[in-house]
Amino acid sequence: MAWLMAASASSPRSSSASVQPVPPYERPALTKGYLFPPDKKPARLPGFHTCVGSGGQRQTAEWYKENGIEVLYEDPVVAFDGKTQTLKTSSGKILKYGSLIISTGCEASRLPEKIGGKLPGVHYIRDVADADSLVSSLGSAKKVLVIGGGYIGMEVAAAACGWNLDTTIVFPEDHIMPRLFTPSLAKKYEDLYQQNGVKFIKGALIDKLEAGSDGRVSSAVLKDGSVVEADTVVVGIGAKPVVGPFEAVGVNREVGGIEVDSLFRTSVPGIFAIGDVAAFPLKMYNRIARVEHVDHARKSAHHCVETLLTSQTKAYDYLPYFYSRVFEYEGSSRKVWWQFYGDNVGETVEVGNFDPKIATFWIDSDSRLKGVFLESGTSEEFSLLPQLAKSQPIIDKSKLQAAASVEDALEIARSSLQSAASV
Ligand SMILES: Cc1cc2nc3c(=O)[nH]c(=O)nc-3n(C[C@H](O)[C@H](O)[C@H](O)COP(=O)(O)OP(=O)(O)OC[C@H]3O[C@@H](n4cnc5c(N)ncnc54)[C@H](O)[C@@H]3O)c2cc1C
Repeated sequence: MAWLMAASASSPRSSSASVQPVPPYERPALTKGYLFPPDKKPARLPGFHTCVGSGGQRQTAEWYKENGIEVLYEDPVVAFDGKTQTLKTSSGKILKYGSLIISTGCEASRLPEKIGGKLPGVHYIRDVADADSLVSSLGSAKKVLVIGGGYIGMEVAAAACGWNLDTTIVFPEDHIMPRLFTPSLAKKYEDLYQQNGVKFIKGALIDKLEAGSDGRVSSAVLKDGSVVEADTVVVGIGAKPVVGPFEAVGVNREVGGIEVDSLFRTSVPGIFAIGDVAAFPLKMYNRIARVEHVDHARKSAHHCVETLLTSQTKAYDYLPYFYSRVFEYEGSSRKVWWQFYGDNVGETVEVGNFDPKIATFWIDSDSRLKGVFLESGTSEEFSLLPQLAKSQPIIDKSKLQAAASVEDALEIARSSLQSAASV
């Protein structure tokens, strides 16, 4: 079977860049090790090509060649014809396919140009060229403004601390990581950022970004009229699935992305979708979801290819998993590394004082453990989390609340797992 892959995210966007087109890489590095200051050993390609993050082989250009996969760089697919089973690329190439796997991922959501979203000094991060451009701004920045209190915002703000820059984060919610963190958990992290000099402006929306006399961004005006000075702005306001030119294959209007079944088959025979762009049945929680995380990108790819190459009919049964690692540069006074597995629904029990550990347990009305979060665990402790979230054991909430430490709480959770198994 011949494999062909079209890639475009790694292509340089700026005419000044001498960036070479490169094969796919692990994007999480772009807001973590890639943003370390130059004297703190920043990550650079080819160090983090796919799939090093999961301990797999490093898929360099040679790897693709050796494995018989032709990669077309800087030549995205611009048209799709399901009847003739052909794709057209921007250079005019016509590609005939037998089976097609759509893995076009997401693109960063942008602020409109009319409110300054394209001013020099305003950054979005999706690819290496974006990260290079940000690194170049950070090198001469005085005041950094991060828009958005989610993953990208928090990781970039932590990176800016490594550069000792005056950093402010602005977001509309009342705490960081609003889709995952409880207010109490968020406060622990916010305090840490504040100890590192980061300022927070909560409950605020951007009205416009303004340019100084040199044409670069110089400030942000908030909806309440207040002004925040900044020579470097990083916008982390989410991402949108890249469905074009494949809309005709079937888009899920609720969660966005291309709708697939539990084997990643779209409604068109022979066409599959995986990764960030796939709207798939999240079997455990009986809902259609899109998951924008590497773990799902890898697992969905495996599952889809197995479906394609074998007669497997096993439904994809994904357990949601999120993680982040920040403040990991040399000389940082405190590293942060957390993992979350499961669903953040129900009541919560928080254990620990963030010194350095803290754990949060989400428990539903039937006393089932639905989700679990752990900061600064050992590898053994982290490995318990997926078992808990997958098994959803009945847990004694009052025992958890009385736990003297995170270790005790995890032991209580572990024993609930054992008692569930012995019933
Ligand atoms: C800065 C950043 C930090 C992140 N941090 C984390 C993290 O800490 N943990 C985590 O789990 N996840 C993280 N993620 C998310 C993670 O990187 C994504 O979930 C993952 O990359 C999804 O893989 P994918 O293959 O579905 O899509 P992508 O990695 O986006 O790849 C899509 C590919 O398709 C190409 N493409 C798009 N349209 C076309 C077209 N028309 N023709 C040809 N090719 C096309 C793109 O150019 C790209 O090469 C982060 C993402 C970013 C951007």
